[in-house]
Amino acid sequence: MSPVISRAMSSSDRERAVLNATPTELFINGQWRPGSSGKVFDVEDPSTGKVLRAVADATAEDGMTALDAAVAAQAKWAQYPPRERSDILRRAYELMMQRQDDLALLMTLEMGKPVAESRSEIAYAAEFFRWFAEEAVRIDGGFAIAPHGSGRVLVMRQPVGPSLLITPWNFPAAMGTRKIGPAVAAGCTMVLKPASLTPLSMLAIADILRECGLPDGVLNVVPSSSAGRLMEPLIRDGRARKLSFTGSTEVGRLLLEQCAEQIMRTSMELGGNAPFLVFADADLDAAVQGAMIAKMRNIGEACTAANRFYVHADVVEEFSRQLADQMGSLRIGRGSEEGVQVGPLIEAQARDKVQRLVEDAVARGAQVLVGGEPVDGPGYFYRPTVLVDVPPDAELTSTEIFGPVAPITAFTDEQQVLTAVNDTPFGLVSYVYTRDLNRALRVCERLEAGMVGLNQGLVSNPAAPFGGIKHSGLGREGGGLGIEEFLETKYVALAT
Ligand code: NAP
Repeated sequence: MSPVISRAMSSSDRERAVLNATPTELFINGQWRPGSSGKVFDVEDPSTGKVLRAVADATAEDGMTALDAAVAAQAKWAQYPPRERSDILRRAYELMMQRQDDLALLMTLEMGKPVAESRSEIAYAAEFFRWFAEEAVRIDGGFAIAPHGSGRVLVMRQPVGPSLLITPWNFPAAMGTRKIGPAVAAGCTMVLKPASLTPLSMLAIADILRECGLPDGVLNVVPSSSAGRLMEPLIRDGRARKLSFTGSTEVGRLLLEQCAEQIMRTSMELGGNAPFLVFADADLDAAVQGAMIAKMRNIGEACTAANRFYVHADVVEEFSRQLADQMGSLRIGRGSEEGVQVGPLIEAQARDKVQRLVEDAVARGAQVLVGGEPVDGPGYFYRPTVLVDVPPDAELTSTEIFGPVAPITAFTDEQQVLTAVNDTPFGLVSYVYTRDLNRALRVCERLEAGMVGLNQGLVSNPAAPFGGIKHSGLGREGGGLGIEEFLETKYVALAT
């Protein structure tokens, strides 16, 4: 994708230009090519329901061709000087930032989020390339004298090998670069399947990596309308040594079963059910600001989205009022219009699920402070919603809402609320607002989650280990641990 946006263009011309500049074929062995079946599938704009572009539809045969390319490229790529792998990532970081506006518009068109948020995601996504450019040249090993004095212990770190990467639609760029960055840094080749709802962003990024000198076959991208039929043979084939998946717990579980046959290394970034706790001593303004971010980032369609709010009875009324005021004043609209703060949900099914969850909560006694309904007209919009007096048996307390709905429950006792908060199979992230340091540490230690936002509503950071426990996943992405997921350890016993 070359830079195309000119400020002189009308907004519809800019949209068309960005779409036309984006590759829509399969990226295999460094070449853009149509799928072997010649079939395509449509990518839609969720704010209108209209087709944006048709993308080549990879079959199982195309997947195997991509895996062949990754396997063939692996040995040479593993020998590539780390500095050169690093330089490719660094150039890709810079190019993504130069083209941030184009990439952001493309993402907004296919995914719906406000373009300001898409710009942030492009910066976040590019940052994984910069971070792992720095990690690529710091892969080390170990050397020790055996305790009995004769013999030495040499430890090598080597690439895992060809890796399969599967990404979701909600962060179409960052969920890919968070895997591609460490795989490139470690010296692994890849076959990546982006979400069928949002493949365009990943195709544009693949083109940037090609432009930055990534050797043929190192990254192969195969969009497909039949994920299972494409990926299962690749997993069962046995030549891929790693699967890194981001998506729902349900699909993650199925993939783990498939990977078991080949004892394949796995990284699983799965679903969440994040609690947001506000204690009576919290800075209430900060808690409301944090709640807006934790709830409304990505229109609530984030694995890290605050899904359940537990607010101390002394402050629940004030917190709910302020949150409802802010949620109710957000501007809803097509994400590509500057100033819009709430875009559409990804598809009609997603909007209908949110509506069903809200109706269930209301039927069980919850009160609607603001919102509580879809927006009429084209696109899949849902009004930012605040619910209070939400009972524990409401389905949305145990299900990922994935929409702009904040359900609030009051609490009085710290022990009881922690029991309620931890009573979920998920454990991705929790948010806590308190000014009491002892309480903060006590609560952070007791929360069953891979990440905690302490007095802040955003945890995502390329320099930090992102990931969950329990049904929210296995392994960590980003930070110092991110590259570990793509490295094997080899111990050499040295005679002396
Ligand atoms: P999803 O339905 O599980 O899909 C994720 C990816 O898996 C998509 O590329 C999808 O392809 C593919 N897929 C679906 N069925 C498959 C199969 N049988 N075999 C191989 N691949 C298959 O999840 P989603 O709806 O896209 O994303 C939302 C979920 O992702 C939420 O649960 C969210 O919490 C989670 N998520 C987690 C993190 C994290 O870091 N923990 C980050 C973001 C999202 P298609 O697109 O063709 O269906």
